[in-house]
Amino acid sequence: MKQTKQFKTESQRLLHLMTHSIYTHHEIFLRELISNSSDAIDKRNFKSLTDENVPRADYEIRLIADEKARTLTIIDNGIGLTEEELIENLGTIAKSGTKAFQESLEEKNDAELIGQFGVGFYSAFMVAEKVEVRTRSPFTESGFLWTSDGVSDYTIEELEKDLIGTEITLYIREDAEEIDFSKFLKFYELKSLVKKYSDYIRYPIKMLETKTEDKKEIQEDVILNQMTPIWKRSKSDVTEEEMNEFFKHQFNEYDAPLKTIHTNVEGMLTYTALLFIPKKPAYNFYSESFEKGLQLYSKSVFIEDKNKSLIPDYFKFVKGLVDSADLSLNLSREMLQHDRQLKKIESHLEKKIKSELEALLADDRKTYLEFYEAYKLTLKYGIYDMFGMNKDKLQDLILFETSKSEEQITLKEYLDRKPESQKFIYYATGKSKSRMLNLPQMDAMKSQDIEVLLCYDDVDEFMFQAMQNYQEIPFKSIQQGDLEEVLEDKKKEVKKQEKDYKDFLKALKDNLKEHVKDVKVSARLTESPVCIVSGEGVSLEMEKVLNQMPNGETFKAERILEVNPNHALFKKLYDTFQEDSESIGSIASLLYYQSLVAEGIPLENPKAYTDALTNLLSKS
Ligand code: ADP
Repeated sequence: MKQTKQFKTESQRLLHLMTHSIYTHHEIFLRELISNSSDAIDKRNFKSLTDENVPRADYEIRLIADEKARTLTIIDNGIGLTEEELIENLGTIAKSGTKAFQESLEEKNDAELIGQFGVGFYSAFMVAEKVEVRTRSPFTESGFLWTSDGVSDYTIEELEKDLIGTEITLYIREDAEEIDFSKFLKFYELKSLVKKYSDYIRYPIKMLETKTEDKKEIQEDVILNQMTPIWKRSKSDVTEEEMNEFFKHQFNEYDAPLKTIHTNVEGMLTYTALLFIPKKPAYNFYSESFEKGLQLYSKSVFIEDKNKSLIPDYFKFVKGLVDSADLSLNLSREMLQHDRQLKKIESHLEKKIKSELEALLADDRKTYLEFYEAYKLTLKYGIYDMFGMNKDKLQDLILFETSKSEEQITLKEYLDRKPESQKFIYYATGKSKSRMLNLPQMDAMKSQDIEVLLCYDDVDEFMFQAMQNYQEIPFKSIQQGDLEEVLEDKKKEVKKQEKDYKDFLKALKDNLKEHVKDVKVSARLTESPVCIVSGEGVSLEMEKVLNQMPNGETFKAERILEVNPNHALFKKLYDTFQEDSESIGSIASLLYYQSLVAEGIPLENPKAYTDALTNLLSKS
């Protein structure tokens, strides 16, 4: 019985795009269909290892062109599709991310979309006015015929089909004004497209070539592709362009990779790894739905698409594949996860990636910065995670802007520049550079010529806590605790001022006891009248981050108000207090709110601030 079904809405949009607005990349349809065939053969072969209902075959992909009928058929003996799979896989956009696809539909150009979302099969409608899919899965008795003109619906009906696998017939469109569709029916064009896009496919792509010999037409079966997987070819034999094309297609990427790592290891453990760092993180890279992993092959036979145990979380941006002859093909996927060989490969790869990144940092900082901009959060979380267990592997890969340098520097470079006597690595946290540079707490650092790391990311401070120190030099926030060591020579003066202003300080403290733990004379301030600092433990910046977490707990940093008796404002307010002790309420509010504003902390009660200001200003 023949049933007619509607395409899902998002598929209809995509199909419309395929048939109407893409005029540049028609030819990629062949690569997409061949690649689907190759995947389907991989799947069948893998299944056949563990499931006796799935027989092996002499795997091949075949192209048949019929110029008279204007049809091109792509045949494979892969895993085929059941009826449900036909509806599921060809009726909707493949899993790759329908939502994200829809969201980007407006923003990006067509070619980019095809690359990013693996809209593979539908690309057939770029060149065909009608598509027929004849397919049979090893798990069903009969086959099925799926037909569509790629507009709004498709039909499915049962079909007698002996062989397991899939045949896709494209009814090639009539030539349009600017586009020659007929070329997709010609042997030489197809041959050159296979060469260009699908040469590395490991199964033979066959086609009959018609030749004339002695005025007689004869037909000869030819294999169009070289069949050697790209990672098995010698490095010098693969051009950069070929490698980039392979990357784009194999991993659904639009851009060439930022870095390619191709490594052959021989010895106790033999394997080839071909790794790539994409220029940009995947659209869902920072969300839960992102899955890390490398493709796994054994003797060039595909085993698994995303093997998670091959790559640590902190390098999850790496895409690529591993091909090893030492893996037993009879292992189930669960067992593979615990395979000792895989563990060893992971540890090799981890070292390799680390050393390649370090080399990039040392030799080509511009590219490294591009990498770093894209993935720094992953590296930083990697350091913070597991209580800093992996810090040794990652700490030399992170960079910071500083109070003294526009260029981002490494921690090692920071240490190399700092004077011997400096006992800490100082940092400031905040949302912008100007805000950090203008922090009252920065005064003392400037006056002592101390370089301060500028930290913009929420994770930074948590990371420092996990690291504790770098090369035994501890980290220290300039916004937290006291800065005694920097301010040694000011101690005496501070002591004296604390005595001189004892009553005033006590009055301020009593007045602000709901808000701050203490009011102190500051040693760190020179140009500003007040600042707020936090005690040990949770810092003000961490307080902001922690309170945004979804678990509903509230955190409060211990606040200490520091005042600068050398500042004219302080002096003026002190005089006001001497004349009229009743005004202490307004004075305390003014100083406290000033300190919050300077730190960029939102005021709970802005009116109290303006009231205090109005009150004091109208006095003088
Ligand atoms: P993608 O390949 O990115 O998943 P496609 O739209 O190209 O997206 O294909 C959708 C799905 O249809 C595939 O994931 C696969 O399950 C199935 N499919 C496509 N072509 C074939 C084929 N020749 N044999 C078996 N299954 C196929």
